[in-house]
Amino acid sequence: MTHHVPDGLPGELKHYIGGELVDSVSGKTFDVLDPVTNTPYVTAAAGQAEDVDRAVAAARAAFTDGPWPRLLPRARARVLNRIADAVEAQDARLAELETFDTGLPITQALGQAQRAAENFRFFADLVVAQSDDTYQVPGRQVNYVHRKPVGVAGLITPWNTPFMLESWKLAPALASGCPVVLKPAEFTPLSASLWAGIFADAGLPPGVFNLVNGFGEEAGDALVKHPDVPLISFTGETTTGQTIYRNCATHLKGMSMELGGKSPAIVFADADLDAALDSTLFGVFSLNGERCTAGSRILVERPVYDEFCARYAERAADIVVGDPHDPATEVGALVHPEHYEKVMRYVELGKSEGRLLAGGGRPSGLDTGNYVAPTVFADVPPTARIFQEEIFGPVVALTPFDTEAEALALANDVKYGLAAYLWTSNLERAHTFAQSVEAGMVWLNSHNVRDLRTPFGGVKASGLGHEGGYRSLDFYTHQQAIHVSLGPVHAPRFGTVRKGQS
Ligand code: NAD
Repeated sequence: MTHHVPDGLPGELKHYIGGELVDSVSGKTFDVLDPVTNTPYVTAAAGQAEDVDRAVAAARAAFTDGPWPRLLPRARARVLNRIADAVEAQDARLAELETFDTGLPITQALGQAQRAAENFRFFADLVVAQSDDTYQVPGRQVNYVHRKPVGVAGLITPWNTPFMLESWKLAPALASGCPVVLKPAEFTPLSASLWAGIFADAGLPPGVFNLVNGFGEEAGDALVKHPDVPLISFTGETTTGQTIYRNCATHLKGMSMELGGKSPAIVFADADLDAALDSTLFGVFSLNGERCTAGSRILVERPVYDEFCARYAERAADIVVGDPHDPATEVGALVHPEHYEKVMRYVELGKSEGRLLAGGGRPSGLDTGNYVAPTVFADVPPTARIFQEEIFGPVVALTPFDTEAEALALANDVKYGLAAYLWTSNLERAHTFAQSVEAGMVWLNSHNVRDLRTPFGGVKASGLGHEGGYRSLDFYTHQQAIHVSLGPVHAPRFGTVRKGQS
């Protein structure tokens, strides 16, 4: 099979601190692999606590003394719009690098690059249009909300759609006036190396954006524990989120956590089955199944279960798996051999927990690289690990149900609560079910398309706090209440009675 290697790959990936590309103080580096050959193609600086200290000091200086937090929203928005223009202008290059580093299919990586640009444009608009509340007590008082950036924000991101997820945090943090320290995922640091140039060209002052590469247990941990970082926005696994939550407690940091998922897609017998099939196939196999909102448990009403399973398996078996750079590819290579091994362990486990209908191992003809054939298990009981645990790969569990109450119980019977997808033509049931299902986001007769103004986030083990639209700006800003007296102050007068007098 051909293997596309982008021209002009960097020889090494450095940190970006205070407007300069720098090595680790210790000189330590780590190897980054590409997921098609699993060979190292670049080394990245391995950040330690001292590198995080330097990055936080630069960001802190930008916060206390620099212009960025003090600019008018319109001036910040102009910079954000230039960033969006630059991202859009190089979307093809971004997609090429992202695909090379992550193994995501090129057409999907291109969509993610365009979404990253849109995040900046959206928050540029929002910060200019933003208004805050005032409360009048006629003749007595006026109270108003003064919004101000919280301080240095620590942004910690995963590897599944790296550039887009970074933009999701960078755009609202910068729009709010917060300088940032970004710690991208160690599996996929390549596309993050483009931010420094994009931001500098757009006119972001030095020190406002800082990037420290490295491992979570070293660079990430030091960022979480740093006393001058009052905010942590984290996206990643639930267990990592729990560790970060504990570590943030020492300093009572603000936290936003977008964690794992095991989202149900519920297909009732009265659904438009063609549309449900298209959507539930895309819902779990797009982004190689490495998608937090993947509908990886499909619950199907008994009368259409056999037909649905047969048609689903037939389509899954025809999904084009191959070179991530080929525009015809629908599922590429999983990000890293460690992750590939984990997904393959679930595939093997599934053979004893369910009935294998499609896939079940490495696709034929792809003997190297982290390729997994789209894998479908039917008759999966709710006690199965492949029903309960996040696999984060191209693997789906199908389970039948007989009643609406049983469907709801199955949907809610996992520790996660990120998304749910519901297919039915019964309007009343659609809304009743949607309002009862334990999920932060529900899509009715629709796949995962999200308006940027809507809340994003999960419940239960899928997250803490909601971002999206104004909620993101609320996270990165303090809303200070200022109370102003109009006219005489009506305070009880303490200390007006002389001692010894009655
Ligand atoms: P991960 O938790 O292993 O790593 C995420 C980031 O945290 C990485 O940058 C890592 O270096 C860092 N990290 C690890 N240990 C740390 C520590 N002790 N202190 C500080 N930082 C630390 O997650 P991953 O494997 O990169 O990503 C996949 C996971 O992300 C899946 O569970 C997926 O569902 C989740 N995810 C969630 C969303 C969402 O919006 N809910 C979106 C995408 C991915």
